[in-house]
Amino acid sequence: MSNHKVLGIIGGGQLGSMLCQAASKINIKTKIYCDDKDAPAQNYSDEFIYGAYNDDDKIIEFANQVDVVTFEFENIPVPTLKKIKSVKPVYPDPNINFIIQDRSREKKFINDLGIETVSYKKISSQKDLENIDKLIPGILKTTTLGYDGKGQYIISKNNDLNKIPLNNDFILEKKITLKKEISVIITRYQNGSSATYEPIENIHKDQILDTSTIPSSVSNEITNLSKKYAKLLADKLDYIGTMCIEYFIDENDNLLVNEIAPRVHNSGHLTINAYNVSQFESHVRAVCNLEKIEPKMTSKAVMKNIIGDEIFEYRNKETNSDEFFFDYLKKESKNKRKMGHITKLLD
Ligand code: ADP
Ligand code: MG
Repeated sequence: MSNHKVLGIIGGGQLGSMLCQAASKINIKTKIYCDDKDAPAQNYSDEFIYGAYNDDDKIIEFANQVDVVTFEFENIPVPTLKKIKSVKPVYPDPNINFIIQDRSREKKFINDLGIETVSYKKISSQKDLENIDKLIPGILKTTTLGYDGKGQYIISKNNDLNKIPLNNDFILEKKITLKKEISVIITRYQNGSSATYEPIENIHKDQILDTSTIPSSVSNEITNLSKKYAKLLADKLDYIGTMCIEYFIDENDNLLVNEIAPRVHNSGHLTINAYNVSQFESHVRAVCNLEKIEPKMTSKAVMKNIIGDEIFEYRNKETNSDEFFFDYLKKESKNKRKMGHITKLLD
């Protein structure tokens, strides 16, 4: 595919905005489909269509107007993605969403490759609450549709479980002591080659990402293993585009996969300013079948998320030449809502 093609993006949040900015830099036109008529990414896309994700007619009409379709969030109904795929290429493939939309299916896929995760158990009924002592203290997570810690409950003692209505499928994960959290961004191209970014060290506050830093402070051994797993996972999924593997490092320096994000990822925002090619541009290049650019770190950096009303302070603040402030232009500030981020280059 040559440049001058139109990339369709489902979803219009900040990830969509940054995908559009990256696309326009390399002359790819963008058209967004989103179910929020105030979606911020319409400030950056060439065109914008407002529609529901279950309005198949409208979404197929959208697909017919673009050359290739991708998405900025993974929870679009799989049957909808498959319908789109019957008219236009969809990258990454909808079958990947089928695996990753469900935390227990995702963990099984990872474990089957010989890669460790935290111990867990599927909880679908009261009966599953027997013999769970080994998983306490634990975290009960909804199997589907969780993000930024939403749909998660800390379970300190068995009794806590009685307070939670089991009206969803859940998994109960053992709550482990985290020494560190890292993530690895990888982009896989249509010819099967891939490009891996260096591990990013992440600190979460209230289960929401607070800061991301490169380079990470992990050993060479963990660096190499985390990149090797990312490549294995991307290859096994036959993934096309950018994805992110979130890892836990436990007290004994074991590397565990926390989860896979089949999309560009918050921890990779610093690649915009601290790499020769951002995770967003790499994604656009891969899904549009353009030539690969090998990512090279050009600076150390730290990214900080700006949550809720903190944004007002940043909007009025001068930034230094080594600081890059991104305002997501969301209409309304809400508690725990990601409103922007700031990346600072480090010496
Ligand atoms: P989300 O899908 O909302 O990102 P995660 O499963 O990644 O949910 O959890 C968010 C954060 O909560 C993690 O990055 C980590 O800091 C903490 N966390 C989640 N699961 C565990 C666990 N089993 N043990 C310890 N900390 C956890
Ligand atoms: Mg997560």
